[in-house]
Amino acid sequence: MRIFTSCKEISAYLESQTALGLSTGFVPTMGALHNGHLALIKQAKQEVDLVICSIFVNPLQFNRKEDLDNYPNRLVQDREMLELEECDVLFTPTKEELYPEEPEMKFAFGSIGMGMEAEHRPNHFEGVAAVINRFFEVLNPTKAYFGEKDYQQLAIIRWLVEEKNFNTLVVGCKTVRYESGLAMSSRNYRLSQNDLETAADIYSLLNYCKENYPSIGPKELSEHCFKELQSKFEPEYFIIADESNLSPIESWSEAKSPRAFVAAYLSGVRLIDNLSLKH
Ligand code: AMP
Repeated sequence: MRIFTSCKEISAYLESQTALGLSTGFVPTMGALHNGHLALIKQAKQEVDLVICSIFVNPLQFNRKEDLDNYPNRLVQDREMLELEECDVLFTPTKEELYPEEPEMKFAFGSIGMGMEAEHRPNHFEGVAAVINRFFEVLNPTKAYFGEKDYQQLAIIRWLVEEKNFNTLVVGCKTVRYESGLAMSSRNYRLSQNDLETAADIYSLLNYCKENYPSIGPKELSEHCFKELQSKFEPEYFIIADESNLSPIESWSEAKSPRAFVAAYLSGVRLIDNLSLKH
């Protein structure tokens, strides 16, 4: 695996490879890798010639300093995991390297950038869009892989690619879960064994929505799940929204593709998840 820290060097290397006719697939991560990340790498390995993974904890997307400071760092293990997956290129720039100038932080996302994560993490998606914008400028990948685990983020990236006319094809990948149903997340590294078991309740509640769709109304369902969470978690939101615009729905007739979204703290660790109610 080739490892780059310089934008100029990785850019020149990738240009030389695409000039040879090779396609490239980019998997951006913040490290502390798990099987969810590796599923994106595996899918990219099947679809393109050269897979690039970045590990960069983007300070611009954290609205709480404490969250940024506590973000797990496991670079040695991460490198080993990437080697095992035969990832071709690892990019680990410093923030000074990636942002030589103040990046643009104003984007007109519309409804997809309003509720849920956008509401509870002010400026989070501006930071996400800024970093992906910069990565795409430097790497100009043929394809880029993102998890449905961060469903609103995936919508933001699709919007960004259209807005900026990037040639990159965005590929959304299914959420990888433990047997308990808990979505894999770097933040799980901060949970105790007990908490990991409790955290699986999030998936049970998402499934409860799926099982009761469409016999119980969306508002009733989401309110019920929010209340259920309150016994063990500090929930921020439990919302049923339409996949197309991510606006909360009041009745099933409003939504072609309803999806339940949740964010909740457990022992100070912020967990998010979502599930399509239809398939
Ligand atoms: P992160 O390192 O949390 O920024 O995640 C990097 C990429 O991995 C994002 O596109 C995430 O949506 C994706 N990802 C994180 N967890 C999972 C998971 N459990 N299943 C699938 N993709 C995931």
